[in-house]
Amino acid sequence: MQDKLNFNHCESIYWVFTQLCNDKCDHCYNSSGPQGARISEEECIQIIENLPDQVDRLILSGGEPLADKKLLYVILDRLQEKFQGKTQIMLQTNGDLLTGEILDILIEKGVTRFDIASIDRYHKHSGSRLIELAELFDSRGVDGTEHQPLIEKDNYLVQNFRLSWGYWGASEDLWLGGNWARGRSMEKNIWLRNPKHNFCNILSGGIGFLTGAEGIPQEISIQLWRINPCCPGTYKAMGDARKEKVAQVLERVAQSPVFQKINAGDPLGMGESIGISREYAEQRTEELQNICLWCDEFFKQFFEVATLESRFVEPGQIDVIA
Ligand code: SF4
Ligand code: SF4
Repeated sequence: MQDKLNFNHCESIYWVFTQLCNDKCDHCYNSSGPQGARISEEECIQIIENLPDQVDRLILSGGEPLADKKLLYVILDRLQEKFQGKTQIMLQTNGDLLTGEILDILIEKGVTRFDIASIDRYHKHSGSRLIELAELFDSRGVDGTEHQPLIEKDNYLVQNFRLSWGYWGASEDLWLGGNWARGRSMEKNIWLRNPKHNFCNILSGGIGFLTGAEGIPQEISIQLWRINPCCPGTYKAMGDARKEKVAQVLERVAQSPVFQKINAGDPLGMGESIGISREYAEQRTEELQNICLWCDEFFKQFFEVATLESRFVEPGQIDVIA
C-alpha cells in the first residue's frame, strides 16, 4: 500500500500530453483527432518539473503520441533527465504511425513498454496492422509474450525494465466498460447508459488514486495539464500540473472526505460528509444513467474543488444536469 503522506512518490501516472490524433474515433472520450487540443513544449516541460520525484511508471498517451512526435521526443528526453532511467516509460499508441526508424528512436529515448491500444472494432484499422507490428517489434527484440495491459506491480517495480509490447482495445464489457460519458462518445450519443455500472471502482476509475487498491496501482491521470483521480476526469480538475506540484495537489485533496470516497471507488458516498445522502446520489445516478454524470453534477452543484468546500444550495434550488 502506498504511503498516503508521501505523494512525492507515485506508483503510476497516465499522461495524455496531446489530443492530436491521426484518427477520429466515435468512442474517443477526450475528443482527440486531427484538430485535437495540444499544449506547448514549455507547458510540457513545466509539467515534468512538477511531477513527483519518484514515479514508478509513466504512461504517455493521447490522442496519438506519434502524431505529436516532435513533442514526444522532447518529453522523453526530459523524462530521462529527471528520472535517470528509474521510471518505466510506457507508450500507449494506436500503432498506425509506428515505423522501424521511429521504434529505434523511442527505444533509444527510454521507452520500455509499448501498448497498442487500438485492437478493437471501434478503431478504423481494427487491428489490421497487428501482424506487421508483431514483426516490427520482434525485429528489435521487443518481447510480446505479455500482451495484456501490465497491471501487476511486479511489472514496473523492478528496474532494468525489459523491452516489451502488448495489444488490447476497448470492448463492451472491458476496459472502457462500454463508453465513458465524455468527449466524442457523448457527442455521438454512444456512452454507456447503465446506472449500476461503477466505473470508479475499476482500473482507470478513481479507486486507489491516493493509496492504491487490491490489484490496482495508485494511479492518477493528467489530461493535458488537468490533474484527475481517474481517466474519465472529474468535472473540474484537482489541479493544474503546469502551475502546481502534483504531490501538493494530492496532499491537499487527500484531506477531503469527498476525495477519500473517490479513492475508495465509492462516488455514491462522496457527498455524505457534506449532507448529500447516498440515497439522493443513487436516485440521481439512476436518472442520469451513468455514475460519472452524477459525479459531474456533484462537483458542479455541491462541492468546490479549488477550496474543498461545499457550496450552499437553497432547498429546492438544486440545478440538476438535464
Ligand atoms: S480513441 Fe485513440 S485512436 Fe481513436 S481518436 Fe481517440 S486517441 Fe485517436
Ligand atoms: S465517478 Fe468521478 S472520480 Fe469516479 S471515475 Fe467517474 S468521473 Fe472519475
